[in-house]
Amino acid sequence: MSLWIASIAGFALFALNEIANPRGALLGKVLWKGDRRGIALTFDDGPHPLYTPRVLEILDRFRAKATFFVIGKYLQEHGALAAEASQRGHVIGNHSCNHLRMMNFLSGQKLRQEILECQREAEKWVGYRPRFYRQPAGFRNPNIFGILKELGMSMVGWQVRAFDTQRQDPLAISRRILKKADPGGVILLHDGSDSVLNQDRTATLKALPEILRVLRDRGMEFLTLEELFGMSKDIK
Ligand SMILES: [Zn+2]
Repeated sequence: MSLWIASIAGFALFALNEIANPRGALLGKVLWKGDRRGIALTFDDGPHPLYTPRVLEILDRFRAKATFFVIGKYLQEHGALAAEASQRGHVIGNHSCNHLRMMNFLSGQKLRQEILECQREAEKWVGYRPRFYRQPAGFRNPNIFGILKELGMSMVGWQVRAFDTQRQDPLAISRRILKKADPGGVILLHDGSDSVLNQDRTATLKALPEILRVLRDRGMEFLTLEELFGMSKDIK
């Protein structure tokens, strides 16, 4: 009997871990690693009027390409920044319309709406409907994979993240990324904020040149997700 309970508990833990795991494959395919010749920087929660232009400037300085997972509601006001990023060769991904904290508990219909509203806004500004999707907070709703499949989209996780929404120390951010980043990996950083409090992203901006410099010295090329995964950035 106790063995039985232990195995149920074990399975529950496994399932919980899978649901929260950015790389878990139990519920569906998550992309987080690709072409080992490069590395993919991804920036979530923008576009942001203060930080996105500065991220673009730093990326240009290093001739690096990246992918921006944008929030649909921010595009309504700052969509020109996504257009600018796209024109400079970066890829735009979908990070939902409202970045709801309760994303995991939404009905399939509401979830689809969150994704499609962001798709519509993105298309207005960059001229295509993004293929790549990252779920807010990295958690997953059991409905999500069916919806993405139906829409022809792909879920993107990460190989390493900096926790730069919680950390205000540039050194801690760059050290963590540089210690953990593997060839082919997807790196998660933030150029914006999901909250109305508008968190300060100065630490990320300060860490970015060091991250780019060291990874470049290691021979890494900075690829968009389109290049890293060999998949088109848009859906037809
Ligand atoms: Zn986010």
